[in-house]
Amino acid sequence: MTAEVRVPVLYYHRVAPDADPRTGVTPKQFSAQMALLGSLGFVGTSLERALNWKEGSDTMNRHPLAITFDDGYEDNFTFAAPILEGFGFVATIYFVAGRMGQTVDWTPDPVWSGHRLMGQSLARELVGRGFEAGSHTMTHPDLARIPDREAWREIRESRDRLSQDLSCPVTTFCYPYGSFRDSHPSMVREAGYRAARTVRRYRLRGRSDPFRMACRPVSGRMGLPRFALTLMSYRMGLRGGDLP
Ligand SMILES: [Zn+2]
Repeated sequence: MTAEVRVPVLYYHRVAPDADPRTGVTPKQFSAQMALLGSLGFVGTSLERALNWKEGSDTMNRHPLAITFDDGYEDNFTFAAPILEGFGFVATIYFVAGRMGQTVDWTPDPVWSGHRLMGQSLARELVGRGFEAGSHTMTHPDLARIPDREAWREIRESRDRLSQDLSCPVTTFCYPYGSFRDSHPSMVREAGYRAARTVRRYRLRGRSDPFRMACRPVSGRMGLPRFALTLMSYRMGLRGGDLP
């Protein structure tokens, strides 16, 4: 019996010197994490490329680890991208299609609200540099709390809008707040995506499902030793991140 090939997925929000530890990491922390990832033999890449690798259509001589960012903060362009590129890595950024170039308006929580989101020209530049643009809906609603027809519009329209505005295919989706109803994963598939990421740390009943992918959140509260342990457990395959 051959062991299942797994590719772990990490997820971040902000990367900025002033990031509240609940919302992100500092560039210094991020840089130390990426250095560790490289020294343990991983290559940080987009979810799309990791999926291609798993399917055999992308070759990488090191084990891929997908790095994903939710919401598309402008600081991802300013701080995260140059650090990633310094290690030869790229990542996936999940943009809120109807809020690009604006500020966070979907929560009154002062820790999150008001932060600047990346505009289209910077996002296009990152796509040109090999980053993946994924969809995080049009307006960042809690999909489980809106009618299905609105959920469909959020899922479908954001894909069309992003692929048009950024001139690139948009193939992966990310549920805001990790929240969705049972009907949504199939909607995501029907809208033309190949995979969707949740915020769950473990797979549902151990089952592999490309439209309910698990991941490991990384915040500023996670120290480097714990980050190292997570990566080492991935390497040993004790409890991998998720890929279908
Ligand atoms: Zn989000």
